[in-house]
Amino acid sequence: MEIAADRLAAIRERMARAAGDAGRRAESVTLLAVSKTRGAGEVREMAQAGVRDFGESYVREALDKQRELADLALCWHFIGPVQSNKTRDIARHFDWVHSVDREKVARRLDGQRPEELGLLNVCIQVNIDGESTKHGVAPEEAGPLARAIAQLPRLRLRGLMAIPRAGSPDGNRDAFRRLAMTLSGLRHTMPELDTLSMGMSDDFETAIAEGATIIRPGTALFGPRDNRQ
Ligand SMILES: *Cc1c(COP(=O)(O)O)cnc(C)c1O
Repeated sequence: MEIAADRLAAIRERMARAAGDAGRRAESVTLLAVSKTRGAGEVREMAQAGVRDFGESYVREALDKQRELADLALCWHFIGPVQSNKTRDIARHFDWVHSVDREKVARRLDGQRPEELGLLNVCIQVNIDGESTKHGVAPEEAGPLARAIAQLPRLRLRGLMAIPRAGSPDGNRDAFRRLAMTLSGLRHTMPELDTLSMGMSDDFETAIAEGATIIRPGTALFGPRDNRQ
Protein backbone atom coordinates (compact mmCIF):
# COMPACT_ATOMS: atom_id res chain seq x y z
CA MET A 1 0.00 0.00 0.00
CA GLU A 2 2.78 2.35 1.02
CA ILE A 3 4.66 1.64 -2.16
CA ALA A 4 1.63 2.19 -4.39
CA ALA A 5 0.85 5.47 -2.65
CA ASP A 6 4.48 6.59 -2.84
CA ARG A 7 4.83 5.77 -6.52
CA LEU A 8 1.57 7.54 -7.24
CA ALA A 9 2.62 10.63 -5.31
CA ALA A 10 5.91 10.75 -7.23
CA ILE A 11 4.10 10.50 -10.58
CA ARG A 12 1.55 13.14 -9.63
CA GLU A 13 4.38 15.45 -8.63
CA ARG A 14 6.19 14.91 -11.94
CA MET A 15 2.93 15.47 -13.83
CA ALA A 16 2.26 18.71 -11.97
CA ARG A 17 5.79 19.97 -12.62
CA ALA A 18 5.61 19.11 -16.34
CA ALA A 19 2.21 20.78 -16.65
CA GLY A 20 3.42 23.86 -14.78
CA ASP A 21 6.51 24.12 -16.99
CA ALA A 22 4.23 24.02 -20.04
CA GLY A 23 1.93 26.67 -18.62
CA ARG A 24 -0.85 24.13 -18.23
CA ARG A 25 -3.04 23.33 -15.25
CA ALA A 26 -2.23 20.00 -13.57
CA GLU A 27 -5.92 19.01 -13.82
CA SER A 28 -5.77 19.24 -17.60
CA VAL A 29 -3.88 15.92 -17.67
CA THR A 30 -5.52 12.64 -16.67
CA LEU A 31 -3.44 9.81 -15.26
CA LEU A 32 -4.42 6.52 -16.88
CA ALA A 33 -2.73 3.74 -14.92
CA VAL A 34 -1.84 0.93 -17.32
CA SER A 35 -2.66 -2.18 -15.31
CA LYS A 36 -2.22 -4.90 -17.95
CA THR A 37 -0.52 -7.98 -16.44
CA ARG A 38 -1.14 -6.65 -12.88
CA GLY A 39 -3.27 -8.54 -10.42
CA ALA A 40 -6.57 -7.26 -9.09
CA GLY A 41 -4.92 -6.70 -5.71
CA GLU A 42 -2.40 -4.29 -7.20
CA VAL A 43 -5.14 -2.41 -9.00
CA ARG A 44 -7.17 -2.20 -5.80
CA GLU A 45 -4.20 -0.71 -3.95
CA MET A 46 -3.70 1.87 -6.66
CA ALA A 47 -7.42 2.66 -6.63
CA GLN A 48 -7.33 3.07 -2.86
CA ALA A 49 -4.39 5.41 -3.30
CA GLY A 50 -6.59 7.57 -5.51
CA VAL A 51 -6.38 6.40 -9.14
CA ARG A 52 -9.69 6.08 -10.97
CA ASP A 53 -8.69 5.34 -14.57
CA PHE A 54 -7.11 2.02 -15.54
CA GLY A 55 -5.87 0.83 -18.94
CA GLU A 56 -6.00 -2.78 -20.11
CA SER A 57 -4.75 -4.46 -23.30
CA TYR A 58 -6.17 -7.99 -23.03
CA VAL A 59 -9.93 -8.47 -22.87
CA ARG A 60 -10.07 -11.74 -20.93
CA GLU A 61 -7.62 -10.56 -18.32
CA ALA A 62 -9.45 -7.24 -17.97
CA LEU A 63 -12.86 -8.86 -17.51
CA ASP A 64 -11.56 -11.15 -14.76
CA LYS A 65 -10.06 -8.18 -12.97
CA GLN A 66 -13.19 -6.09 -13.36
CA ARG A 67 -15.25 -8.83 -11.76
CA GLU A 68 -12.97 -8.88 -8.73
CA LEU A 69 -13.08 -5.10 -8.46
CA ALA A 70 -16.79 -4.63 -9.14
CA ASP A 71 -17.25 -2.94 -5.76
CA LEU A 72 -15.05 -0.01 -6.89
CA ALA A 73 -16.23 2.80 -9.17
CA LEU A 74 -13.44 2.67 -11.74
CA CYS A 75 -13.18 3.93 -15.29
CA TRP A 76 -11.81 1.25 -17.64
CA HIS A 77 -9.95 2.07 -20.83
CA PHE A 78 -9.13 -0.48 -23.52
CA ILE A 79 -5.73 0.34 -25.02
CA GLY A 80 -4.73 -2.86 -26.86
CA PRO A 81 -5.30 -3.92 -30.46
CA VAL A 82 -9.03 -4.48 -31.03
CA GLN A 83 -9.86 -7.82 -32.63
CA SER A 84 -13.27 -8.01 -34.29
CA ASN A 85 -14.30 -11.01 -32.22
CA LYS A 86 -13.68 -9.04 -29.00
CA THR A 87 -15.71 -5.94 -29.80
CA ARG A 88 -18.83 -7.15 -27.97
CA ASP A 89 -16.99 -7.56 -24.67
CA ILE A 90 -15.16 -4.28 -25.15
CA ALA A 91 -18.38 -2.38 -25.93
CA ARG A 92 -20.01 -3.79 -22.80
CA HIS A 93 -17.19 -3.57 -20.29
CA PHE A 94 -15.18 -0.46 -21.05
CA ASP A 95 -15.76 3.29 -20.83
CA TRP A 96 -13.09 4.19 -23.35
CA VAL A 97 -11.33 2.55 -26.31
CA HIS A 98 -8.09 4.28 -27.30
CA SER A 99 -7.12 1.96 -30.11
CA VAL A 100 -9.75 2.21 -32.85
CA ASP A 101 -8.03 2.08 -36.23
CA ARG A 102 -10.62 0.60 -38.60
CA GLU A 103 -14.12 1.64 -39.54
CA LYS A 104 -15.29 -1.94 -39.30
CA VAL A 105 -14.26 -2.13 -35.65
CA ALA A 106 -15.89 1.25 -34.94
CA ARG A 107 -19.16 0.04 -36.49
CA ARG A 108 -19.14 -3.12 -34.45
CA LEU A 109 -18.44 -1.25 -31.20
CA ASP A 110 -21.27 1.15 -32.03
CA GLY A 111 -23.73 -1.64 -32.80
CA GLN A 112 -22.80 -3.58 -29.68
CA ARG A 113 -22.73 -0.73 -27.16
CA PRO A 114 -25.69 -1.33 -24.81
CA GLU A 115 -28.21 1.53 -24.68
CA GLU A 116 -28.14 1.76 -20.89
CA LEU A 117 -24.41 2.40 -20.74
CA GLY A 118 -24.23 5.78 -22.39
CA LEU A 119 -21.82 6.56 -25.20
CA LEU A 120 -18.51 4.74 -25.59
CA ASN A 121 -15.59 7.19 -25.69
CA VAL A 122 -13.15 6.41 -28.47
CA CYS A 123 -9.82 7.63 -29.76
CA ILE A 124 -8.31 6.85 -33.11
CA GLN A 125 -4.91 5.19 -32.86
CA VAL A 126 -2.40 6.81 -35.20
CA ASN A 127 0.74 5.04 -36.35
CA ILE A 128 2.70 8.21 -35.90
CA ASP A 129 6.13 6.88 -36.86
CA GLY A 130 4.89 4.84 -39.82
CA GLU A 131 6.19 1.59 -38.35
CA SER A 132 5.11 -1.50 -40.24
CA THR A 133 4.78 -3.51 -37.03
CA LYS A 134 2.43 -1.06 -35.35
CA HIS A 135 -1.32 -0.75 -35.32
CA GLY A 136 -2.96 2.54 -36.12
CA VAL A 137 -3.88 4.60 -39.17
CA ALA A 138 -1.50 6.84 -41.05
CA PRO A 139 -1.90 10.49 -39.94
CA GLU A 140 -3.58 11.41 -43.21
CA GLU A 141 -6.17 8.67 -42.72
CA ALA A 142 -7.24 10.03 -39.33
CA GLY A 143 -9.61 12.58 -40.91
CA PRO A 144 -11.65 10.14 -43.00
CA LEU A 145 -11.90 7.67 -40.11
CA ALA A 146 -12.90 10.49 -37.72
CA ARG A 147 -15.69 11.56 -40.04
CA ALA A 148 -16.96 7.98 -40.30
CA ILE A 149 -16.91 7.52 -36.51
CA ALA A 150 -18.69 10.85 -35.98
CA GLN A 151 -21.73 9.33 -37.77
CA LEU A 152 -22.02 6.47 -35.28
CA PRO A 153 -24.61 7.26 -32.61
CA ARG A 154 -23.31 5.10 -29.73
CA LEU A 155 -19.69 6.29 -29.96
CA ARG A 156 -18.28 9.61 -28.81
CA LEU A 157 -15.10 10.39 -30.67
CA ARG A 158 -12.70 12.12 -28.26
CA GLY A 159 -9.38 12.41 -30.09
CA LEU A 160 -6.18 10.60 -30.97
CA MET A 161 -3.82 8.11 -29.40
CA ALA A 162 -0.30 7.02 -30.37
CA ILE A 163 2.47 4.75 -29.20
CA PRO A 164 5.64 6.28 -30.67
CA ARG A 165 8.71 4.24 -31.39
CA ALA A 166 10.37 3.58 -28.06
CA GLY A 167 13.15 6.13 -28.12
CA SER A 168 14.61 8.46 -25.58
CA PRO A 169 12.01 10.69 -23.91
CA ASP A 170 13.12 13.54 -26.04
CA GLY A 171 13.31 11.35 -29.14
CA ASN A 172 9.55 11.05 -29.04
CA ARG A 173 8.97 14.78 -28.83
CA ASP A 174 8.66 15.12 -32.56
CA ALA A 175 6.13 12.27 -32.75
CA PHE A 176 4.07 13.81 -29.95
CA ARG A 177 4.15 17.13 -31.74
CA ARG A 178 2.97 15.55 -34.99
CA LEU A 179 0.09 13.84 -33.19
CA ALA A 180 -0.89 17.15 -31.59
CA MET A 181 -0.81 18.82 -35.02
CA THR A 182 -2.96 16.07 -36.48
CA LEU A 183 -5.51 16.70 -33.74
CA SER A 184 -5.47 20.48 -34.31
CA GLY A 185 -6.13 19.81 -37.99
CA LEU A 186 -9.18 17.72 -37.12
CA ARG A 187 -10.40 20.30 -34.64
CA HIS A 188 -10.99 22.80 -37.45
CA THR A 189 -14.10 20.85 -38.35
CA MET A 190 -14.57 18.88 -35.10
CA PRO A 191 -13.85 21.34 -32.28
CA GLU A 192 -15.37 18.94 -29.73
CA LEU A 193 -12.31 16.65 -29.94
CA ASP A 194 -10.47 17.16 -26.68
CA THR A 195 -8.16 14.20 -26.16
CA LEU A 196 -4.53 13.45 -26.92
CA SER A 197 -3.62 10.09 -25.37
CA MET A 198 0.16 9.93 -25.43
CA GLY A 199 3.13 9.41 -23.12
CA MET A 200 4.14 6.30 -21.15
CA SER A 201 6.46 5.73 -18.18
CA ASP A 202 9.61 7.00 -19.85
CA ASP A 203 8.30 9.97 -21.74
CA PHE A 204 5.11 11.30 -20.18
CA GLU A 205 6.69 14.61 -19.21
CA THR A 206 7.63 15.27 -22.81
CA ALA A 207 4.12 14.27 -23.85
CA ILE A 208 2.61 16.72 -21.36
CA ALA A 209 4.86 19.46 -22.74
CA GLU A 210 3.45 18.67 -26.19
CA GLY A 211 -0.19 18.72 -25.12
CA ALA A 212 -1.10 15.24 -23.83
CA THR A 213 -4.44 15.20 -22.00
CA ILE A 214 -4.19 11.52 -21.00
CA ILE A 215 -0.87 9.90 -20.12
CA ARG A 216 -0.50 6.13 -19.85
CA PRO A 217 2.28 5.06 -17.46
CA GLY A 218 2.46 1.42 -16.41
CA THR A 219 5.83 0.44 -14.98
CA ALA A 220 6.45 3.86 -13.40
CA LEU A 221 3.39 3.25 -11.22
CA PHE A 222 3.36 -0.50 -10.68
CA GLY A 223 7.04 -1.42 -11.05
CA PRO A 224 8.58 -3.62 -13.78
CA ARG A 225 6.33 -6.10 -15.59
CA ASP A 226 7.70 -9.63 -15.61
CA ASN A 227 6.85 -10.28 -19.25
CA ARG A 228 7.72 -8.16 -22.24
CA GLN A 229 4.24 -6.88 -23.12
C1 LIG B 1 1.98 -1.19 -21.91
C2 LIG B 1 1.43 0.08 -22.45
C3 LIG B 1 1.65 1.30 -21.79
C4 LIG B 1 2.50 1.43 -20.54
O1 LIG B 1 3.84 1.20 -20.80
P1 LIG B 1 4.97 1.49 -19.66
O2 LIG B 1 6.22 1.52 -20.42
O3 LIG B 1 4.87 0.38 -18.69
O4 LIG B 1 4.63 2.78 -19.05
C5 LIG B 1 1.06 2.43 -22.32
N1 LIG B 1 0.30 2.39 -23.44
C6 LIG B 1 0.07 1.25 -24.09
C7 LIG B 1 -0.78 1.26 -25.31
C8 LIG B 1 0.61 0.06 -23.63
O5 LIG B 1 0.39 -1.08 -24.31
